[in-house]
Amino acid sequence: MDSHTDKDQLNQSGTLFIGSLAGVSIRLHFTFVILFIVLVFSSSGSPLDQGLYMLALFASVLIHEAGHAFASSRFKIRTQEIIMFPVGGVARLSKQPTNREELWISLAGPAANLLVAGSLLVWRVFHEGMGKTEILLRNPEEDLLVKSILANILLALLNLLPAYPMDGGKALRGFLSIFRPDPEAARLASIIGRGIAVALGMIGLLAGHYLLAFVAVFVYFGAAQENAVKIGQSLLEGVKVQQAMVTEFESLSHGATVGDAAKRLIATSQQDFPVVSGDQVVGLLSRNLLLGAMAESGPDTYVAGAMNRDFLRLHPDADLVEALPSIAAAGACGLVMDEDKLLGMLTSENLTEFLVLRRIGAEGRKLDKEDEEE
Ligand SMILES: [Zn+2]
Repeated sequence: MDSHTDKDQLNQSGTLFIGSLAGVSIRLHFTFVILFIVLVFSSSGSPLDQGLYMLALFASVLIHEAGHAFASSRFKIRTQEIIMFPVGGVARLSKQPTNREELWISLAGPAANLLVAGSLLVWRVFHEGMGKTEILLRNPEEDLLVKSILANILLALLNLLPAYPMDGGKALRGFLSIFRPDPEAARLASIIGRGIAVALGMIGLLAGHYLLAFVAVFVYFGAAQENAVKIGQSLLEGVKVQQAMVTEFESLSHGATVGDAAKRLIATSQQDFPVVSGDQVVGLLSRNLLLGAMAESGPDTYVAGAMNRDFLRLHPDADLVEALPSIAAAGACGLVMDEDKLLGMLTSENLTEFLVLRRIGAEGRKLDKEDEEE
């Protein structure tokens, strides 16, 4: 399991573990803590009131994420952890849900907030009567419970904006995929998302709601990027790691020097070199590690001292789509190994080439089909 430690540290960097709920670990991103302190001390109300309100907001976001986690578990998808950012939470799932599963998973978050808001409202009316509750709803600043009700409604509505990365955008994509093939649903959802972002941005700028304009920019780029990710995923559907790996490459012996490695870096188009001792793979020397060692200790040091021993291992039969996040986290290169045997390498460059070829292939097939239909 060594190969996972790097990745886990990356996921956990800048976050604080605060506990776990039903087996799901909950982490606070450090910016959340800063926001908390700033809000508590900069606002007009007493720090205690502000603190309580922040706690209520925190609980609302957590309930929202718990809604996603609950719906995921219905599809047998485990939630690995929930990370709380100042703008909301992110639930990391054990695998990517299908578009249709995503429809329900993404609606469950806002639904949880509406459920909370509804129950609190009913409870309030039941205890204090309709008249007093109505007065409070008009002056929400006065009352923590009423403020929390409004915050939950706002949280639900904001997340229901039909634009990725909001839940509404994912739900829209899932909904469209009932009628359209997945890549087309993603493309349509992305176009709608960008359209809404542009409209929001205009309203925000014209009306002087700069926070809204800020959200719009975030949504615009999110929608564009998600479309690219989804197209990539649909091209890689069902492809195994071994189909995309590089099989012709050079390895370095663990007795080689950094100077030898630098020569190979120039002589070949390779950026990352597996380091072997006999037929055992002992490490991976990336271009960055090589250059770093060259600058720090010169060309005569051994590669064994500079290489990464904790490199990413990929199984040849693993799904390429599922391997993508770990390749990205590992800094762009993984070694494809069956037990101890090195079969190939997977780098971001050769993945890009593989994707381009698949895309040309897919478009070629589409044209063939259209010809047949005519
Ligand atoms: Zn959500």
